[in-house]
Amino acid sequence: MRVLIKGAGVAGLTAAHELVARGAEVTVAEHSRGLAGAASWYAGGMLAPWCERESAEQVVLTYGIGAADWWEAALPADSVHRNGTLVVAQPRDSAELKRFASRTSGFRWLGAEEIAALEPALAGRFRQALFFAEEAHLDPRKALSTLRQGLVARGVVFRASEIDEGGFALTVDCTGAARIGEVEGLRGVRGEMIYLQTHEVTLSRPVRLLHPRIPLYTVPRGGGLFMCGATMIESDDGGPITARSLMEFLNTAYALHPAFAEARLVETGAGVRPAFADNLPRVSRRENTISVNGLYRHGFLLSPATARQAAALAFDEQSGRGHVR
Ligand SMILES: Cc1cc2nc3c(=O)[nH]c(=O)nc-3n(C[C@H](O)[C@H](O)[C@H](O)COP(=O)(O)OP(=O)(O)OC[C@H]3O[C@@H](n4cnc5c(N)ncnc54)[C@H](O)[C@@H]3O)c2cc1C
Repeated sequence: MRVLIKGAGVAGLTAAHELVARGAEVTVAEHSRGLAGAASWYAGGMLAPWCERESAEQVVLTYGIGAADWWEAALPADSVHRNGTLVVAQPRDSAELKRFASRTSGFRWLGAEEIAALEPALAGRFRQALFFAEEAHLDPRKALSTLRQGLVARGVVFRASEIDEGGFALTVDCTGAARIGEVEGLRGVRGEMIYLQTHEVTLSRPVRLLHPRIPLYTVPRGGGLFMCGATMIESDDGGPITARSLMEFLNTAYALHPAFAEARLVETGAGVRPAFADNLPRVSRRENTISVNGLYRHGFLLSPATARQAAALAFDEQSGRGHVR
């Protein structure tokens, strides 16, 4: 079966992977050069279903639990770091930590000594933490580029220009926020982020610093590089980061570790997360078009599940009926 996938973000590439695995002949059309306009480019790459349950539905945990295995099977060894998430708060914000604990599962409480043992850079900085040992993270940019290379090696053709859909049995629309205004109920949730670089701080895993107004997470990328994010703003504006968000990120990074004050600010950016009202993705089929959209803040976490559903719908398998809902 010849399939055209529109969009080479995480939804499109994971769908391509699943379709090729089932024997489809896949072409991917991506209208921008590189992925610098895609939400996927700005993601933290956290595969954190237990932490996300703090604000997400149970299905995000149910479908997200298998994500790390999927990515591990799809990418070369050592691409997926399975060493957990640490959630901390300043002593004055300890109520935030308790609230987070009351809404989640799959963690254990750590005291100051255990925090220092896990992340020596944070020794003496926090009295208590939650440790979600089963969570994982990856570098989204490396993951997407490796996935794409693997697809090319398996015969997938990538096109930058508009393609006539006529020659394809099926189109899979994975164009994300570009469909706002066309797909009913689809909205944008702006996420700003920054990259800091310093060799004065070493972290091994994502660290979430809770705060009543400005929570921040930082995800180590290796080589002294840290992705820090992310705002959640009801807007489909993908323009540059605002001065306010930048100031808040820098202040919060400083609160996590003062050495971030001397870090180099190597990148700022913003992506638009595509989302439906319930913040859950939708996979649906109408005639010869399958649509995968609404991955919200869970593109890397939930796209293995949406990709499987899209492939099952393409081949009319029973398991493809319904959504991640
Ligand atoms: C700051 C930030 C942090 C995040 N952190 C995480 C995280 O830690 N973990 C996690 O799981 N998720 C995270 N997310 C969410 C995740 O990034 C999104 O859910 C995901 O990227 C959505 O993927 P997508 O493929 O649907 O959309 P996109 O990544 O936006 O891809 C859509 C693609 O379609 C292309 N396109 C548009 N129109 C057309 C057309 N007509 N023809 C061809 N191509 C077209 C676009 O150019 C784009 O490349 C984060 C998001 C942001 C913004």
